[in-house]
Amino acid sequence: MTCKNCIGKPVIQLTNNNVKLCKNHFIKYFEKKVKKTIIKFNLIEKDDKTCVAISGGKDSIAVLNVLSKIKGKDKKFRIEAILIDEGIKDYRDKAMKDAASFCERNNIKLNIFSYKEEFGYTLDEILKKLKIMPCSICGTLRRYLLNKKARELGFTKLATGHNMDDEAQSILMNQLRNNMKVNARLGPINGIKKDSGFVKRIKPLYLMTEKEVASYVFLKGFNVRFAECPYSDVGYRSEVRDLLNNFESKYHGTKDSIVNSFLEILPMLKEKYKEESSLKYCSLCGEPTSKEKCQACVYVKKLTD
Ligand code: SF4
Ligand SMILES: [Zn+2]
Ligand SMILES: [Zn+2]
Repeated sequence: MTCKNCIGKPVIQLTNNNVKLCKNHFIKYFEKKVKKTIIKFNLIEKDDKTCVAISGGKDSIAVLNVLSKIKGKDKKFRIEAILIDEGIKDYRDKAMKDAASFCERNNIKLNIFSYKEEFGYTLDEILKKLKIMPCSICGTLRRYLLNKKARELGFTKLATGHNMDDEAQSILMNQLRNNMKVNARLGPINGIKKDSGFVKRIKPLYLMTEKEVASYVFLKGFNVRFAECPYSDVGYRSEVRDLLNNFESKYHGTKDSIVNSFLEILPMLKEKYKEESSLKYCSLCGEPTSKEKCQACVYVKKLTD
């Protein structure tokens, strides 16, 4: 058995069409498909300044690498990285080192912000004070900081490492919970309404599976850790992830079908929920929100009460 394009030994079988590729052809395939995704969904426009939200994990390093390749020597194409240090002992500090050395080697400016400096507490300290699901407070604070800092630094797009598996899980979770309004905010570009306070979040790995991203990072020899966050939610999402993985192993292309059929109805969902997603500005910090106070301020207030 050889690679579809040469006599090389195959290293991977693509999930949606069973094609087998060697290392070189897989790397080419991966980078080309990410570029095509960016063009197809118009993720980056001519005058955009893009920053990549990195964690040191495989997905964000893959995005950063492909975007820096696209940038090449084009000085007008501005790309930097932004990292949020949540303050998770023995986890984030190691991932931060990997992210920092990747950026240094590739000459990419890395902007680091931390919960400790911005909110007064690390995530470890927050979770000792509040009885709360770690990922719900952590996700809220990270999204808040990423948006605020990216905007203040003058970026117009914020690229994240979400891949096809993440998106298929989110779509299915929202459907199982009858939460179509949340589904309306998904897609390769996040959000329903335009607002100058929001930096649009884009997902260049939207059409790449988790297995493809992991294989790309491994074959490129990038030094990333595959360790899981110690607070990682073992609830609903992980059950949906297992269910989808089981299905995918029996019926190749399941995740691809979920995401592609979702893309067909997404414009209708966005139109339907356009009016319901009214935007206000937080009465405490001035950041965009759908309520009177943003959720980050609600959490911070609980911490200081
Ligand atoms: S797994 Fe949860 S707690 Fe850990 S970094 Fe991600 S959102 Fe934060
Ligand atoms: Zn080949
Ligand atoms: Zn606020």
